[in-house]
Amino acid sequence: MKICVLPGDGIGPEITAQAVRVLQALDLKFEMEEALLGGCAVDATGNPYPEATQKLARQADAILLGAVGGPQWDSLPREKRPERGLLGIRKDLNLFANLRPAILYPELANASTLKSEIVAGLDILIIRELTGDIYFGQPRGVREENGERVGFNTMVYSESEIRRIGRVAFEAARKRDKRVCSVDKMNVLECTQLWRDVMVEVSKDYPDVALSHMLVDNAAMQLVKAPKQFDVMVTGNMFGDILSDEASMLTGSIGMLPSASLDENNKGLYEPSHGSAPDIAGKGIANPLATILSAAMLLRYTFGLEEAALRVEAAVKKVLAQGYRTGDIYERGTTKVGTQEMGDAVIAALA
Ligand code: NAD
Repeated sequence: MKICVLPGDGIGPEITAQAVRVLQALDLKFEMEEALLGGCAVDATGNPYPEATQKLARQADAILLGAVGGPQWDSLPREKRPERGLLGIRKDLNLFANLRPAILYPELANASTLKSEIVAGLDILIIRELTGDIYFGQPRGVREENGERVGFNTMVYSESEIRRIGRVAFEAARKRDKRVCSVDKMNVLECTQLWRDVMVEVSKDYPDVALSHMLVDNAAMQLVKAPKQFDVMVTGNMFGDILSDEASMLTGSIGMLPSASLDENNKGLYEPSHGSAPDIAGKGIANPLATILSAAMLLRYTFGLEEAALRVEAAVKKVLAQGYRTGDIYERGTTKVGTQEMGDAVIAALA
């Protein structure tokens, strides 16, 4: 079980160090090796996704990433920017399925901008197709027509692309509450009528999972009106881009949200949903829980170690119940801790 660890920039090294300690504490004999990605890689090699990292990432079963980027690299040419490293590795490894859970622990209900009875106990999983749709479709561009500029993009999905993301959603639902809501815009877009038809076909292989459909405009509304009605939500690249950000904000605490991007063989890149937080980097105060929860997803989705994943997630719930909080989720009456102390508390709670 080979894990490539990419600490990255800003708070990345601080938070991945804690996730690595948690993985080591499980005593599961992982082989872990570190490499450079992002701004640190530009500084060392001139390339945000250097060859040595490519080699290691391709050989590994899973990749654990901190975050990349920072103001010191913002003025570099586009191909040298840290974010290019991130896009590069996603493309290189053909990571087509993006999984973003939005979980609101009851102890953190006050962090949400929504009323706590609407969101307390929220546990949904948004699955976004990541390599197709209007973001990649051809033809695209801006042309002259009848004396004015006309912009155009192409929404395109092949049956096989829909089928493979559908399977990811149904498999994930099997490990949860066994409900998939597929989001489309079939009343207007033929491409998404095909999406719906193929989802229905895929569902025949999963009789134990209930499939429902929702139009994207209604889904956006339902996510803020009654988000707890959802279990797994699956959708295309563009709708997923918008809905996954909407869903993550329901929880109000960016330091808590993990993510996974998977290929067809469940090889995956696991990272917190937040960025490199340069404003707090090096201070030892960043919240490592999103990265620790990303490590739990790694155990579940790449290695099929459900029990170990649940153990890590239960440990995170326990430290919250014990009242430990990093600054970003701190409330009066709780115990403020730093990054390392939070890692210590999770490891203690594993026992
Ligand atoms: P950000 O997510 O890094 O930070 C937003 C705010 O949230 C900041 O105030 C930060 O201190 C806080 N925050 C984020 N994570 C936290 C944590 N774990 N604990 C405590 N507080 C936390 O977003 P940004 O400021 O817009 O971007 C900063 C840099 O990160 C930019 O260079 C951006 O390009 C990059 N970025 C990288 C990724 C990635 O690596 N996947 C994603 C988003 C942004």
